[in-house]
Amino acid sequence: MGIATVAAFSDADRASMHARESDEAVGIGPAEAAQSYLNADAIVASALASGADAIHPGYGFLSENPILPKLCDRNGLVWIGPSARAIESMGSKIRARRIASDAGVVGVPGYDGEDQSDARFAAEASAIGYPLLVKASAGGGGRGMRRIARPDELLPALALARREAEAAFGDPSLLLEKLILRPRHIEVQIAGDKHGNLVHLYERECSIQRNYQKLVEEAPAPRLRPETRATLHEAALRLAAAIGYDSLGTVEFILDAEGGPPLFLEMNTRLQVEHGVTELVTGLDLVEWQIRIAAGERLPLTQERIECRGSAIEVRLNAEDPAAGYRPCSGTIVGFHAATAPGIRIDTGIGAGSTVTPYYDSMLAKVIAHGEDRTSAVARLSAALGRVAIFGVRTNQAFLRGIVRHPRFLAADLTTHFIEETFPGGWRAEPGANAVERLAAISVWMRAIGSRADTGPQSPWQTLGGFRVSERAGRPAILRVRIEYRGATTPAAITGDASRFEVTVDGATSVVESRFDSDSVTLVRDGHTYRLVFAIDGARIMVSRDGAVSEFAIIPEVEAGGGQAAAARGAPRVVATMPGVVNSIAVEVGQEVGEGETIVVLEAMKLMHSLAAPVAGRIKAVLCTVGETVASGAILVEIEPGAPAA
Ligand code: ADP
Repeated sequence: MGIATVAAFSDADRASMHARESDEAVGIGPAEAAQSYLNADAIVASALASGADAIHPGYGFLSENPILPKLCDRNGLVWIGPSARAIESMGSKIRARRIASDAGVVGVPGYDGEDQSDARFAAEASAIGYPLLVKASAGGGGRGMRRIARPDELLPALALARREAEAAFGDPSLLLEKLILRPRHIEVQIAGDKHGNLVHLYERECSIQRNYQKLVEEAPAPRLRPETRATLHEAALRLAAAIGYDSLGTVEFILDAEGGPPLFLEMNTRLQVEHGVTELVTGLDLVEWQIRIAAGERLPLTQERIECRGSAIEVRLNAEDPAAGYRPCSGTIVGFHAATAPGIRIDTGIGAGSTVTPYYDSMLAKVIAHGEDRTSAVARLSAALGRVAIFGVRTNQAFLRGIVRHPRFLAADLTTHFIEETFPGGWRAEPGANAVERLAAISVWMRAIGSRADTGPQSPWQTLGGFRVSERAGRPAILRVRIEYRGATTPAAITGDASRFEVTVDGATSVVESRFDSDSVTLVRDGHTYRLVFAIDGARIMVSRDGAVSEFAIIPEVEAGGGQAAAARGAPRVVATMPGVVNSIAVEVGQEVGEGETIVVLEAMKLMHSLAAPVAGRIKAVLCTVGETVASGAILVEIEPGAPAA
């Protein structure tokens, strides 16, 4: 559109892609979001100082908070988003449900009354029937929801939910909803302008979720009866009309897979993470629409001219380890191989050299596939997830690939329980022999040492093994190494060089030829060809194949020994398992604790992580304070072991 851009960044994002790629970038404060990205005054001040005339809030932080539009208004800035009034009316789930119901949009059966007394909730709960959900009216992002299975659980759950809602959102109001047992999450993208025009841009299905958070999203929703689709679009437009909606927004519904009409859930008064799938099926640029609408233009297209072509599916590639309870991971991205291909769009804010900090969300990239129908979109996505590679930080890529390749996903048999039903007991990577990965790591290592400056005439690589009858002089006849992989060490013997070598591991000998591109290696072994992408970070050699990264360390025998010390299991201290901010400390010096008791709660990447006592004993020292930012591995609390008194 030819509009110059100014990026606002926090101290943690100084070197980030958005700050580098904009025409100008301004710092707005420290890494802690509360002091930068959530600081409306700092954002508006930097907009004014840089001469910007409009603010686009993205889709996190303050994008759904009326404070920025109000401040924009007061300071002569244009707000690229809906009116503060529309944001406020949909920001409270209680108000949104009532407005929807007045507009004739059916919600999930529930209670959204003023009377917040226990007695009233108990009466309403039995009228609705169990199981049900208690939700914080001001909640969002899947937080503040609690499932209640039986009447005796209600009162304790209400008390806890009120306290949590007050602490997290500053508003203790709660509502009750019937728990839909086989729900599909379907949402309608709508757009309105300041002239009273409204259109829908079709629907998206976001049923694949974990912890009430979306992981896979697609447009259009598969297996939907035409009447149901029409009802969805019509209901979304009716609600938008009722609040005079004048921007891009999304109306969310639950559809009971067992049948029944779509039930209104809530409305998001902003652009959403998953807007890309709608862009691919409609061929429209939704951010361009937002900007045109904010500038006072009429909607670029009328409803009849908006088409939905083919199918688009998105996955959220997150820095988290599904094999370790989806623990968020942080660190430095050593390599990012974005495999571009027809029909594939990758939206990301990271690249090689980026650091993933514990301060913000763990999403690294969105991989979106478009095809002429759902089957081809799934095939393209699955292929892309086998080729994209992110090195240096663990990701959920192989898990996502496992989801999109699952027969149940191919059959579009979707409910929000997909993940727990498809991967009961959690998702596990297929063990895989890793033989090809290991060979690739060896050739990458051979090439790395071969091209190192220390291969001069004095280098041990050139001088070792002085006598040989079958090899060129100046090369060691046999290179003995230890290969470390997932904490285990395997000896190997290698002859040759990176382009052609023979290696013996575990008693089996392979002859390998390899060829290199900038970040990929092609191996030929026994007539089979394999292509893997790789990255090197010091002694770590990372290779990726079929969407899974394997990390090796190769240590020549002369340097071997020592190795990594095994993690001190059961050591009498509580250690930060990841970088984060100490949210609370449950103990004091001298206090007795039992094994497994929560000692410290760490906040990292918007989630709370409880750190437990590894042993029973008495607290010897507390080495952190609430609010402190701690590094991964930092010792937070020391425990004097010994059974606590009964
Ligand atoms: P948030 O604002 O925190 O995102 P939502 O009300 O949009 O909360 O709900 C998020 C998700 O929680 C839904 O997509 C769905 O998976 C689940 N959910 C919400 N309400 C219900 C309900 N009444 N029955 C079953 N699942 C629900």
